[in-house]
Amino acid sequence: MVSNQKTPTPDSSSAPLPDIHTLSHKELASIIAGLGEPAFRVKQIESWVWEKNAQSFDEMTNLSKALRAKLAQTLSMGNCTELMKQVSTDGSRKYLLQFPDGVTAECVGMPTKNRLAACVSTQAGCAMGCAFCATGKAGLTRSLTSSEIYQQVMHIADDFQTRVTSVVLMGQGEPFMNYDNTLAAMRKLNSPEGAGIGARHLTVSTCGIIPGIMRFANEPEQFTLAVSLHSANQSTRNKLMPGVKKYSLLHLYDVMGEYVDKTGRRPTYEYALISGVNDNDDELGALCDFCRGTLAHVNLIQLNDIPGSPFRPSTEERANQFVQHLASVGVEATIRNSRGADIAAACGQLSQDYKLLG
Ligand code: SAH
Ligand code: SF4
Repeated sequence: MVSNQKTPTPDSSSAPLPDIHTLSHKELASIIAGLGEPAFRVKQIESWVWEKNAQSFDEMTNLSKALRAKLAQTLSMGNCTELMKQVSTDGSRKYLLQFPDGVTAECVGMPTKNRLAACVSTQAGCAMGCAFCATGKAGLTRSLTSSEIYQQVMHIADDFQTRVTSVVLMGQGEPFMNYDNTLAAMRKLNSPEGAGIGARHLTVSTCGIIPGIMRFANEPEQFTLAVSLHSANQSTRNKLMPGVKKYSLLHLYDVMGEYVDKTGRRPTYEYALISGVNDNDDELGALCDFCRGTLAHVNLIQLNDIPGSPFRPSTEERANQFVQHLASVGVEATIRNSRGADIAAACGQLSQDYKLLG
């Protein structure tokens, strides 16, 4: 189902109707009962919404026309419209989606043999202002709803005509500045009546919002956590990531220890290597000290170019030295090749800057 027409609202001057994707099973059941319909309708409707990704009530052909009309007067489908799609030479596809209030966000589908990974946004823009990130440059427009986060995944599944097997919440935005909606979307993506993606295949990436990490440690699901570290040296990190200055590395270290104790899960630290900034021997030493003896895995990312940025990626040789040195102190590290760089879909390249679209 790739059509993206908006569901007509009966009276466009009234307040927006609640988006069906934001309702719990119970809430939907009570609305259906209120419309005088039998309980089995709820399952039928849920199947259209979550499995078939219907874009309008009219598609729900096993419901009577009268019920479809009643639903359209009561609820909205919260649709998104695809404004743009770009296809990379590596097969990744980047989409610019627009939500009913005109706000846009980007997401990326990355296929490999038998698998399809989705990278989705949790906010339109980002307020954290990391110096190396295109999203941070434009500031925050607004947080996305759980439905808008979920719909990005379904849009990718529809376009590739296959199911999404893993999701990283690493598009635009800081997920833990939009905690409730992010968690609600992850739960729906995980649930059997939603996308049915295993919790371990759902990864949230945070720049290090400590209250969010503490909350996340107490969630019952086996979701995966990644933390953008980028430097284990406080003054370098303050410069690169001014938005998280107030959360010190010492505090982050302690909280990550608690996270591992509580969950037994292996977190990932993301580290974009920037030539002459966070790739010298001092920085490598600090990174080793931060990770030594912890369960953490380090993901080294070759910095992706963003327009107007003074930063350059480190050499491949330096990245390999980081891997070897980390291994020598017992820390597992890998170099992650970003995908979709030719269509500006790689980490940190998603931007709100679509002035060229007119
Ligand atoms: N706000 C969250 C998630 C989105 S960013 C976070 O910061 O973790 C996803 C990842 O891309 C983060 O690890 C981020 O630090 C990294 N990133 C940002 N800009 C980048 C760039 N220019 N090159 C490589 N990685 C970048
Ligand atoms: Fe926001 Fe993450 Fe970009 Fe930092 S790296 S500005 S937290 S999206």
